[in-house]
Amino acid sequence: MSRFFINVFVPGPFFGPLIYASDALISAGVRVKVPLGSREIVGICAGEANQPETLETIKSIISVIDDEPIVSPQHLSLVDFASDYYLAPPGDLLLSSLPTTLRKGKPIPKPTTETGHNKPPAYSLTSDQQHAIEAVDQTANQFQCFLLQGVTGSGKTQVFSALIHRMIKRGQQVLLLVPEIGLVGQMVSRIRNQLDGELCVSHSGIANGARTKAFVASARGVADVLIGTRSALFTPMPNLGLILVDEEHDGAYKNQEGCRYSARDLAIVRAKQTNIPIVLSSATPSLETWQQAELGKYQRLCLLDRPGQQPQPTIRLIDVRYDKPKDGLSEAAQRAVRYAIDHGQQALVFLNRRGYSPILMCTDCGWIPGCKYCDAKPTLHRQPDSLWCHHCDHRQRPVSICPECAGHNLLAVGHGTERLEETLAKSFPEVPIIRVDRDTTARRRAFDQLIQPVIDGQPCILVGTQMLAKGHDFQKLSTVVITDADQGLSGADFRSVEHFAQLLTQVAGRAGRHGATGQVLIQTHRPDSEWFDKILRQDYDHLAKAMLLERQQFNWPPESHIALVTARASSPTPVFEALEEIADQIHALDSPIRVLGPAPAPMERRNRQYHGQLLILGKRSLIQWVLKETGPWAYKKRGKVMFQLDVDPWDLW
Ligand code: ADP
Ligand code: ZN
Ligand code: ZN
Repeated sequence: MSRFFINVFVPGPFFGPLIYASDALISAGVRVKVPLGSREIVGICAGEANQPETLETIKSIISVIDDEPIVSPQHLSLVDFASDYYLAPPGDLLLSSLPTTLRKGKPIPKPTTETGHNKPPAYSLTSDQQHAIEAVDQTANQFQCFLLQGVTGSGKTQVFSALIHRMIKRGQQVLLLVPEIGLVGQMVSRIRNQLDGELCVSHSGIANGARTKAFVASARGVADVLIGTRSALFTPMPNLGLILVDEEHDGAYKNQEGCRYSARDLAIVRAKQTNIPIVLSSATPSLETWQQAELGKYQRLCLLDRPGQQPQPTIRLIDVRYDKPKDGLSEAAQRAVRYAIDHGQQALVFLNRRGYSPILMCTDCGWIPGCKYCDAKPTLHRQPDSLWCHHCDHRQRPVSICPECAGHNLLAVGHGTERLEETLAKSFPEVPIIRVDRDTTARRRAFDQLIQPVIDGQPCILVGTQMLAKGHDFQKLSTVVITDADQGLSGADFRSVEHFAQLLTQVAGRAGRHGATGQVLIQTHRPDSEWFDKILRQDYDHLAKAMLLERQQFNWPPESHIALVTARASSPTPVFEALEEIADQIHALDSPIRVLGPAPAPMERRNRQYHGQLLILGKRSLIQWVLKETGPWAYKKRGKVMFQLDVDPWDLW
């Protein structure tokens, strides 16, 4: 009986494939059942292995699941890159890149797609749009990264549609990534409208079965277009000809659990490996991307105006030290919303804070409840009544008597979206108030259902968090109120200003996309902040230059690269000892890498655990080298201290 040795990727803390014996050769990319410890698990073959030195411990493959590979060599090399760069176990990454049913060893279903409606656009393209389309089209079958930069409403999505059309004509597939589930619906309906081909969709909000069918449709080349969120990046597409990344600056592209990869960055790697063009689009590019475009490494394509000469919205600051908000809204904001409603338009009231109110306080003695498990104040929620910690999810019943002074005067201080919804309903009883935040959109499809009346153009007031800020094209929305701009500007992170400017531009971009000129009111205590001055010019390049200068001064990304090591344990001392040890190891390497810390994390005690951090700054290649010397990082532990590594972190939490 001939015996073969096969490399098999399995989930777990392994730095490469494990070797199993088999009676037959099995192609790379085929799923198999293998024993691991006392369990039987699904793994993926990665080709033939050399005969191992010790044969006694080698186990045999139990069964072969697939007749043909479900992942391609290209897919394996993308996973390989990601696992090397983010120092994550390749088996974990590969298996988690499969839809749940396939990961569990279920058979491969028949692919399903939707057919496009093949309608031509109702307008002729602007010369900027045409130029962008030609530029990308000319680089077919070669790697080039483009930055499609244009204000919101400048017609970027139309450029996507036209590019998809061209790719399908060439017989190639297109992968289109959007940052959030909530944005998929609108994108799909817009792309499908003009699409002359087959489309499928993948994100965590759709049922497992449907998701698997989309995976198979893409992997078998049946689907011409795949639209999905971050995880869709890891979908095999044999004829991939173009990758589109919408709202490339969005933090949702960064995976915050498990392997902390950036889908945007890996999309660029995938385009390079496949030798195809990639388009990153945004009205407010991340400074990383913006700088690459300045340096000429990415080709910048600008869409300067809104088609149909739709003017930019007017932006006005409201100094809430003078115009004090009542029920969350200043006089001026109340008037603006009233005006919009009286004229059959819609208004959006933006507040990046869910719940009823951020603080509950005893007005007799000043006592404020804290979270049992975190250095945080729980948020008061009314639906249902609870004090809810947004950091550890712990919920407790709200108190009605102060435990410090036995007083009964407990006051909800400040506004969350729940409370704004309530007060707006009183001031504007004649229109529906639609609240969109994580609490109202938790159910599958809830988001699409909630905003349908807004899309239909019915008069209403939208209240919501950043979920509403992005990408949506609401035709009747004329007025936007940003109720608490100080929240964003006072963040401690080096990217605070960038994120705030992006958020503000995005929210403002919802106003007046059609018809009436948009109006944006920003409530702030600090109208003379230098950043407002730059943001109000509505000239992102000008703002980006200023932000970049500041980053260069302090040697923050994109001037340098960073990696963040977080350690956690049930008491602080071992956390700091463990981090100290790593800092020593790095210092001993005697490289020009800078190490900041160990320091307590911005919220030191979170979810019953103490968190400390070490920040590593320097050239990308040096960071990679240092991390490899001090690794392995996957599942890293020191006694009871757990480590977590984030290469190119999005924020420093
Ligand atoms: P973005 O993606 O940049 O926010 P969209 O592609 O959504 O912009 O375009 C904004 C609006 O303008 C959409 O309603 C779209 O149908 C319309 N539009 C796009 N291109 C043109 C054009 N060339 N002429 C007229 N209207 C256009
Ligand atoms: Zn009290
Ligand atoms: Zn907590």
